[in-house]
Amino acid sequence: MIERLFSLGYSKTFAERYYELWGERALKIAEAMEKPLPRCFRVNTLRIEVPRLTKMLNKKGFQFRRAPWAREGFCLTKEAFSITSTPEYLGGLLYIQEASSMYPPVALEPKPGDVVADMAAAPGGKTSYLAQLMKNRGIIYAFDVDEERLREMRLNLSRLGVINTVLLHRSSLHMGELGIKFDKILLDAPCTGSGTIHKNPERKSSRTMEDIRFCQRLQMQMLRVALENLKPGGIVVYSTCSLEPEENEFVIQWVLDNFDVKLLPLKYGEPALTEPFGVKLSEEISKARRFYPDRHGTTGFFIAKIEKTGI
Ligand code: SAM
Repeated sequence: MIERLFSLGYSKTFAERYYELWGERALKIAEAMEKPLPRCFRVNTLRIEVPRLTKMLNKKGFQFRRAPWAREGFCLTKEAFSITSTPEYLGGLLYIQEASSMYPPVALEPKPGDVVADMAAAPGGKTSYLAQLMKNRGIIYAFDVDEERLREMRLNLSRLGVINTVLLHRSSLHMGELGIKFDKILLDAPCTGSGTIHKNPERKSSRTMEDIRFCQRLQMQMLRVALENLKPGGIVVYSTCSLEPEENEFVIQWVLDNFDVKLLPLKYGEPALTEPFGVKLSEEISKARRFYPDRHGTTGFFIAKIEKTGI
């Protein structure tokens, strides 16, 4: 089994880790990541209603199925020609978005009028979904450190008609400077991206344990800042496209151990791991969720919904 993971290109360290985590299933997960992902899109309800756009696309020969966790999300089952060359795409009636990536904004449940922060926002897939759920009302402070990705984000937001979002080219580790207490915060954290091998096959061999430790430190710092700048009773949704427990369950255990918070249940995905690598974690961690390429047909994805219970 481990030999098969080697032959797919995984380094010894990661092949062994995955076998320890999932046993024989590790191969199923790895094999699923060798196949391309279905192309999915989100109807931009800032510009058009869902039934109207789906009818227009059907007429042009596109067929799709619903993403179970996102009312506006669909995955193509028949794409007669590239959907990105349609006037519907170019006019911002839809946004191409991987299915699991639609879940964090839905889970955060932002309301029109909320004050929201998106701590790692570019190129804006999730920010624009937040804006859509907020009906372009309230305000979103969207941070990113990468100028190139922010430029792309500005184009995306403008094409989609988002007008309630302020872009900040600044590390969100400094967001306390704004002096705002947020109702809701999305932290779609920078991570090693090991759930995205479909798109980045070089990560099978290029990632190291040091990369995981680097990301974990940053993720913890960002979560600390999120909780410091959140109103009591406020919500943080934390997500990564990493398969590594150190960037997911262990980070959430650290939050449970160090802050006045509780995890809120999430309906979709598989319960997160409560005993990764034989380390016994809090049972509450199972409220966080994982999406797997072999079972959900998505990237590998992790999501946790955290409520701040203290002041
Ligand atoms: N949420 C985005 C979306 O759905 O389109 C994807 C975000 S990507 C997973 C992580 C992002 O974090 C990258 O764009 C990266 O530039 C950004 N980032 C890394 N460190 C950061 C920091 N200290 N503050 C803000 N953004 C950061």
